[in-house]
Amino acid sequence: MSSSSLDEPTEAQSAASPLTRIGEARWVLLTALAAAVAAVVLFQVPFWPAAGAMLAMTAVAAFIPRRSASRRVRLNTQREMRRMWPGTGMKMTVDALPTPCFVADGRGITRYVNAQALATYDGVKPGDPLSFSLRAPSLLEAFDRVCNSGGAERISWIEKVPTETWYEAHIAPIYMPGSSAQGRSNPLPDFILVVIQDLTENRRLERMRTDFVANASHELRTPLASLTGFIETLQGPARNDPEAQDRFLSIMLDQAGRMRRLIDDILSLSRIELKAHVRPASIVDLAEIIRHTSDALSPLARDMDVKIRIDLPKTAVRLRGDRDELIQVVENLVENALKYGSSGNFVDVGLSAQVDDLNAASWVLSVRDYGEGIPSEHLPRLTERFYRVDVESSRALKGTGLGLAIVKHILTRHRARLEVESEPGEGATFRVRLPALEQSDEQEETASA
Ligand code: ADP
Repeated sequence: MSSSSLDEPTEAQSAASPLTRIGEARWVLLTALAAAVAAVVLFQVPFWPAAGAMLAMTAVAAFIPRRSASRRVRLNTQREMRRMWPGTGMKMTVDALPTPCFVADGRGITRYVNAQALATYDGVKPGDPLSFSLRAPSLLEAFDRVCNSGGAERISWIEKVPTETWYEAHIAPIYMPGSSAQGRSNPLPDFILVVIQDLTENRRLERMRTDFVANASHELRTPLASLTGFIETLQGPARNDPEAQDRFLSIMLDQAGRMRRLIDDILSLSRIELKAHVRPASIVDLAEIIRHTSDALSPLARDMDVKIRIDLPKTAVRLRGDRDELIQVVENLVENALKYGSSGNFVDVGLSAQVDDLNAASWVLSVRDYGEGIPSEHLPRLTERFYRVDVESSRALKGTGLGLAIVKHILTRHRARLEVESEPGEGATFRVRLPALEQSDEQEETASA
């Protein structure tokens, strides 16, 4: 990188070395001697007075160039300092920054880049114009403004290719100690530091949050509007119509239930998000959780005319997990299978041990239905909040569109994975892969017991 030439001895250091000074003294003597010999030969003056005078004059003459040489050395040192910049300390600072950083001079030539910049921008090289690596016009314009005004700038821009990416750059002037810029009223920078940050993930989260609030408000507004409408009808035209009152009150009860379910799911999602990075501490029996939840759902199975078939290991299946949250996972998957796969008349719930290629052991819970299935284009989006294959049938079946989003968040916390397989017309299989209990989990439990 640019550092290879930085540690060579400078011209200034060479000029000040003892060897150079011995060389200069020899030249003083030789010049004085030559001048004295010339005076003796040409003007026939006595040798010793001529030699003494010449020696004195040459020493004085040698002194004058030595003074200008020391000034030259000083100027060279300054120039060299700038040529050598950034010095080790500054390079270490730039290297320590977690985002791509470029140091360029006032002509727009890249002088130093950190490892993040090398990793992010192909072919970046100190010595090349900055515009070879950074092509965003707004960034280059801001760079020029900083070069000409000496004031820092912060700009952001979007790149559309290959994928939409948001960037922000902080462009700051650098003034070298002892540089000619110092002391001037409107100094121009010696170097310019460009720090680039990729904001895509932040923007994506912001957008998700805004979308979520918009979707949640929309979902709540519909039943609320319906409730308001019925209240007005009951106060007005239906005031004296007991039959209409009964009908409207039952619809209102449904709408209020829909609002309650939505609020419950929103709260549940935000509670799970709060502890998303905390792994559950307790050890639970997954087989018992599946049995318990399937029993609780048997009235719904009866209503939907579906039979739940369970295939579980005979012994307890112990793993690290949060009982209430795992109940929520099984409940959501089995309930969906009962509701959306009712035409298949059966739902199979199984649990089996598996070991993957890397020798990691896990428990796989599978929920299979034989209903209409899910077209493949919907599969990758099923766990998005409020995503539904068919909004009307979801609403008719008391869905909120948040069930699988809740499942995904709970599983992330459990270091588990959700897989979905479906063929339209052949039903759907939802598989949850949960890590099996490790020895360390057992030891932790014994210690905390
Ligand atoms: P909802 O509250 O609408 O059920 P979910 O997040 O639980 O929301 O599910 C999202 C969507 O995925 C559902 O609206 C439905 O369209 C589809 N879906 C989920 N499970 C199944 C299934 N077993 N068979 C067919 N479609 C399903």
